Amino acid sequence: MTVQRTFSIIKPDATKRNLTGAINAKFEEAGLRIVAQRRIHLSDEQAKKFYEVHAERPFYGELVEFMTSEPVVVQVLEGEDAVALHRKVMGATNPAEADAGTVRKDFALSIGENSVHGSDSAENAAIEIAQFFTEDQIVG
Ligand code: GDP
Repeated sequence: MTVQRTFSIIKPDATKRNLTGAINAKFEEAGLRIVAQRRIHLSDEQAKKFYEVHAERPFYGELVEFMTSEPVVVQVLEGEDAVALHRKVMGATNPAEADAGTVRKDFALSIGENSVHGSDSAENAAIEIAQFFTEDQIVG
C-alpha cells in the first residue's frame, strides 16, 4: 500500500444540482483526503486538451460541450492507493452499471453526464494534476 495522489473533477451536472458537498462526503468517508480544490469554468481549449485522448470518439464534441456548460470543481485527492480507491467510489462510467452506493449510481444522469472524473493511473494523475495545480497549491 502506498500513499498516492489522484486528480478528480466534479462535473457540471453535479455542480449544477448542488452536489459538491454530497460527493465530497463520499470521498472523505472512503478515506480520501481533499488536498487541493478549486471551482472553475473550463474553457473550450482546456476541455479539449484534457479529453484529447478521446478526440476520435463520436462523443468527443458532446463531452467538450458538456464539460464547459457549467462550472466544475477540480481536485487533488490523497490516500492509500488513491487512484483505484477513487475509481471504486466513483463507480462504472455508465451509471446503470455502477455498484450501489457509488457516486455515479447515486447521482449520475447518464453515461455522459456522470458527475465525476477520476484519473485511471498514477501516471495520468500526475499529468492531469499538473494541468490545473502547481505543487504549492497542494497541501497534504
Ligand atoms: P471514465 O474513465 O469512467 O470517466 O470513462 P472514459 O475515460 O471511458 O470516458 C471519459 C468520459 O467520456 C466519461 O466519463 C463520460 O463523461 C464520457 N463518455 C464516455 N462514453 C460516452 C458515451 O458513450 N457517450 C457520451 N455522451 N459520453 C461518454
